[in-house]
Amino acid sequence: MRLPLIHHQGYTIELPEGHVPDGRAALFPPSRATALERLSDFAPRAGHHYAARRNHDPGPGERDNVSLLSPYIRHRAISEHEVIARVLARHSPEAAEKFVQEVFWRTYWKGWLQMRPGVWRAFLAERDIERSLLAEDDGLRERVAAAEAGHSGVEGFDHWARELVTTGYLHNHARMWFASIWIFTLRLPWTLGADFFLRHLLDADPASNTLGWRWVAGIQTPGKTYLATTDNIARFTDNRFSPHGLASEAPAIRDESPPSASALPAPRTLPRGRRVLLLLHGDDFSGQEVLPAGTDVASIAVARRGHPDIPWPFGATTAHWVDSLAEDAARRAGETLQQPATLLPQLHAETLRAQCAAAGVTTIATPEAPVGPLAEALDIVARELAEDGIEVIPLRRTWDDLAWPHATHGFFRFKRQIPELLARNGV
Ligand SMILES: Cc1cc2nc3c(=O)[nH]c(=O)nc-3n(C[C@H](O)[C@H](O)[C@H](O)COP(=O)(O)OP(=O)(O)OC[C@H]3O[C@@H](n4cnc5c(N)ncnc54)[C@H](O)[C@@H]3O)c2cc1C
Repeated sequence: MRLPLIHHQGYTIELPEGHVPDGRAALFPPSRATALERLSDFAPRAGHHYAARRNHDPGPGERDNVSLLSPYIRHRAISEHEVIARVLARHSPEAAEKFVQEVFWRTYWKGWLQMRPGVWRAFLAERDIERSLLAEDDGLRERVAAAEAGHSGVEGFDHWARELVTTGYLHNHARMWFASIWIFTLRLPWTLGADFFLRHLLDADPASNTLGWRWVAGIQTPGKTYLATTDNIARFTDNRFSPHGLASEAPAIRDESPPSASALPAPRTLPRGRRVLLLLHGDDFSGQEVLPAGTDVASIAVARRGHPDIPWPFGATTAHWVDSLAEDAARRAGETLQQPATLLPQLHAETLRAQCAAAGVTTIATPEAPVGPLAEALDIVARELAEDGIEVIPLRRTWDDLAWPHATHGFFRFKRQIPELLARNGV
């Protein structure tokens, strides 16, 4: 049986049983040029239209109510600063308030996790325990496999499971419904659901994904969970889905308070006059923007993945898409700085050491990676290269530097800072 699944600009992806075609490149061409075009196209709708319609999910190919920019912003093929500046050039701050706040949710989650890195490590550890339990429990393994394959029998949920695997994207509301049904109706471990997202989303992100799932499960904000209901799904999918048999309550999966914030490590600065090797990576493919004006860049490297010793939590197909974005970043950095950029399959001390020697530099400047596998990779590489007298200097973007210290409590406290943050960023 062939199931028509995705319609996009007159193009249909069909999903035969057991075979998953790749709709990613069609819906999300991996280039900054696409992100810029998408932003220009979306900016006129980022005001009242977005505020009124953003929670609706009319389905793939029909979504002119949201920006579809997250895969590009996540890897910083385009920055939060550029996106908001473009939108505020078209709309008043009042009209664009909702959109601006949504972009700041990403910044807030990153800052929150940056001050509590143990939450990411605890997620990975719990996920690993749940994975090993799967190996021993045939029933649970079959239920997880059915949910991931879109065979749970829950209307809507099965569509989203396939849409995620096929396209690498889900609308925000669909992510909330999916996570809620996974946890409270299907009663599956939340970390395995978060892992399923990490393996397939093009915007898979340690902060937004882990904390989004924790929020639905009731362990992010004490006393708050998210319950998906038939009425809400029918209304906001414009009646495409009306699932029955959903859980009628959503008790927090455990009684746990989030850890309090630890101090943020101070941002580093690049000593004046240093010649550097510029290292870009998938947490910031536009990292040349963090270099102080006039920095002498002797060489450029763009890493496709992390360190071989750090398990990569993202999926193979997504990694392939990010590879293309890395190639795009290498081309762009090369054009801007007028020299060829070297693509590195992984972040590896040995290759970087050789490239530094060839360029005659002992400093690597790189955009700071937030909590996640690339930050761990950069720490390892920095330690290894220090033995050869090579210094790795991660540079924090002004955007993050100004905002992260405010992510100590909930978003409602954080968002009061938005006007001041915009002013200090010159937006
Ligand atoms: C359970 C769950 C898991 C999630 N996992 C991820 C993830 O791994 N990576 C990820 O980037 N986002 C994640 N999100 C957040 C959100 O769903 C996506 O960022 C959003 O759907 C992106 O679509 P868009 O660009 O069309 O959004 P738009 O509505 O156009 O929003 C504009 C931008 O604001 C930001 N944004 C919007 N909503 C959120 C949000 N709730 N949290 C953080 N940033 C937001 C994104 O950068 C987005 O591109 C998750 C949400 C939930 C509930």
